[in-house]
Amino acid sequence: MPLLVQKFGGTSLASAEKIHRAARRAIRAKLDGFRVVLVVSAMGDSTNQLIALARAICSNPPKRELDMLLTTGEQVSIALVAMAIDAAGHEAISLTAGQLGLVTDSVHTKSRIQTISRDRIDRELGNGKIVIVAGFQGIDESGEITTMGRGASDTTAAALASVLNAETCEIYTDVDGVYTADPRVVPQAHKIDQISFNTMLELAATGAAVLHSRAIEFAKKFDVPIHVRSSLTDAPGTIIMKETSGMEAISVRGVTLKEDLAFVELNAVPNTAGVAAKIFAEVARNHILVDDIVQNIYESGRLANLGFSTDASDASEARSVCERLIVDLGIGGVEIDEGVSKISAVGVGMRSHTGIAATMFDALSKAKVNIENISTSEIVISCIVQKEDGPRALRIIHDAFGLDEAESSSE
Ligand code: ASP
Ligand code: MG
Repeated sequence: MPLLVQKFGGTSLASAEKIHRAARRAIRAKLDGFRVVLVVSAMGDSTNQLIALARAICSNPPKRELDMLLTTGEQVSIALVAMAIDAAGHEAISLTAGQLGLVTDSVHTKSRIQTISRDRIDRELGNGKIVIVAGFQGIDESGEITTMGRGASDTTAAALASVLNAETCEIYTDVDGVYTADPRVVPQAHKIDQISFNTMLELAATGAAVLHSRAIEFAKKFDVPIHVRSSLTDAPGTIIMKETSGMEAISVRGVTLKEDLAFVELNAVPNTAGVAAKIFAEVARNHILVDDIVQNIYESGRLANLGFSTDASDASEARSVCERLIVDLGIGGVEIDEGVSKISAVGVGMRSHTGIAATMFDALSKAKVNIENISTSEIVISCIVQKEDGPRALRIIHDAFGLDEAESSSE
């Protein structure tokens, strides 16, 4: 019997009525001949409320206790969904990560999955039950409860779908799929019917917030298609799947905007071996996340300007680290621009199309958007722009790559 994993996010479980709706969807899949595993998030906004509660008690709660608290949100959901299925006359059982054997490392609040045991789930499915699993949580080797980072119920779902050889991992949410751009910023954006794992990974990394990146990594590794769709309708959403040969026909599949970045530039850096290593070792030691790195050499190679982008929230920390480095390494100075954004164009078709960068720069220059920095990889081109230019720049490149015109499309 084929197996289906269905994941319901918090907004799709925010009320008793929505819980019944999710239950009906699972029952329908069962009646259609699937073995069904549900993965659920905490109801509505409850994870945020629990975090606020913790902060009201103390400003810096111990991470172990935070995990203990936050995992209760998902435990509420699994029990209620199981009750809703029972009330509709079907058999269901709810399981926490500990009960099913989803083992992670011991890093509280950002653990990673190590192993998942199939035994309990297989047994319950074998008894004809719909199995409901608490997302986002894990248990470490010594039985401690962990969580895997905000939004990680997607990752629970994709990991289970991988281990159980599911036919598809369906992600039910409050949007009807993945769009060519965030429709709140680009009203002309449209839903994408099919997209490759690699393109989706890059869209997520450059700012699209639809899916947890680790979920896409699991699905890619085990080649399980993910179907992102609305919990309110039966309309098909977006299928994230293995790349097909036709996908290269479209050069740019989607565009993204990442806001709240800072650009840090160290100038007159001595251009000798080991200097960059020392700088970035110090940056990493202070847990500053580096996005893109740019280096230019001048003075016949004696000096360099070395810049990197980082989260705006890390800017002041970056400044103190850089000020220490200036003294230690004899660097000229540091300038930090705290109000920048990054716009990116992503598509596997970039490998086989020419002129993509030229199209992007030309459109931005005609619109008088100044590009502060450029970085590229095989299927991504990104530009750093001033924050106030970001939304307009995104709309401009969406149009320049012909994404305004298409109705609904496959990659
Ligand atoms: N409830 C968790 C969160 O809000 C996990 C999830 O929803 O995926 O981050
Ligand atoms: Mg979520």
